[in-house]
Amino acid sequence: MQLFEKLIEYPEAERLVMESTPRLPVQETPLGEALGLAFARDLTATTDSPPFDNSAVDGYAIRSLDAEVGRVFDVVDEAPAGRPAKKSVGEGEAIKIFTGGVIPGGVDAVVMVENTSGWGEKFDLKKIPAPGNNIRAAGEDTRRGDVILAAGTGVGAPEIALAATQGYGALPVYRRPKVVVLSTGTELVEPGTRDLAPGEIFDSNSYAIVAAAREAGAEARRLYAASDDADTLRVAIDEALETADVVVTSGGVSVGDRALDKNTMLELGVDQIFWGVKFKPGKPLFYGTRGETRLFGLPGNPVSAMVCFDLFVRPALMEMMGRKDKARPRIAVYFEKEIVNKFGRLHAMRVSLRRTNKGWLAESVGSQGSGLVSSLTKADALALIGPASDGISPGEPIEAIVLRQEKLTSGGEAEAP
Ligand code: AMP
Ligand code: MG
Repeated sequence: MQLFEKLIEYPEAERLVMESTPRLPVQETPLGEALGLAFARDLTATTDSPPFDNSAVDGYAIRSLDAEVGRVFDVVDEAPAGRPAKKSVGEGEAIKIFTGGVIPGGVDAVVMVENTSGWGEKFDLKKIPAPGNNIRAAGEDTRRGDVILAAGTGVGAPEIALAATQGYGALPVYRRPKVVVLSTGTELVEPGTRDLAPGEIFDSNSYAIVAAAREAGAEARRLYAASDDADTLRVAIDEALETADVVVTSGGVSVGDRALDKNTMLELGVDQIFWGVKFKPGKPLFYGTRGETRLFGLPGNPVSAMVCFDLFVRPALMEMMGRKDKARPRIAVYFEKEIVNKFGRLHAMRVSLRRTNKGWLAESVGSQGSGLVSSLTKADALALIGPASDGISPGEPIEAIVLRQEKLTSGGEAEAP
């Protein structure tokens, strides 16, 4: 049996991945397709926004110096949004105006219809507006030439809205990485196609990895190759390497399996960067490159596959896209009981989080077996338990990687002191 040649430490593996991750080229990408990407350069305002003084309410545009409670005004024109009034306003006159309507000449205030006797050819005033009331000034949102979005910012719905107000039809973003995901294992069956025969299981990894890659902002597709036959795999991986920026396989990399062995990788022209990390779950992780393409060989165990994806593949994809927020947040957590790491390597322990008056309390989600997919649905964070033999005492602060960021802002259920 072939053992790992050289296991490296987790921070070393992380560094090797990030160091060899290329930034993808910049591509002007249509507004509707840029979600989840990141700005490659600062975006500046092309115009003042709003472009003209306009009304914030439905009502009447008047001269504030004419305003007196009970005074009757003549309505001389109207200014709905998109259709400026032809007339301007003289003494005792008003123009009926709607939200977004251009402020007519002579006007310095808009009175809400609710503060008048109502719609009509005449109205009387019930409440006096101050100068400037209900007028949204040109340029009050953004000024032409201002940097409105900094390079590295992720494109979300608000960023798309802001760019659109400036007339940008496309955004200068780094190209979206193309990810091809492949499962290996003769025991695997496509979910939804048939019942399992003895010894078979459903392929969950490829679906999970595609979903996680899309969540990270990548474009991802599955290439089904659930076989342990080296020749079949070689053909499939070769095709994946041709079309992808990142190929992610799962299974076939552990010592007893080795369907994807060193020879297969060599024949594919993949340069091995590392194979084996002193880390649980995920010891057999493989990482290599071929030209501009990266290949991650994740372990087959579903928990190992997902944790390795999160810790190694996700930040690499986000780095390719130029995302500033590529790292998951890290917080200090504590345990109530003593924790002993018996594995002799760093353990990324799946924990749930609860906010207490002492900080964030971490609790193991139960058994830490690498095949327990249900445990992933319960994990809020990965607590990083070092391999020191003397254990972690109750209350001792431990670093944790937060998987569910919403947990931090939801406040958790505060525990009584
Ligand atoms: P391997 O790394 O190929 O030795 O697989 C380790 C364990 O993970 C075995 O129990 C496999 O059956 C399981 N496994 C491998 N690939 C998948 C997959 N795509 N979906 C679910 N389980 C898998
Ligand atoms: Mg296998």
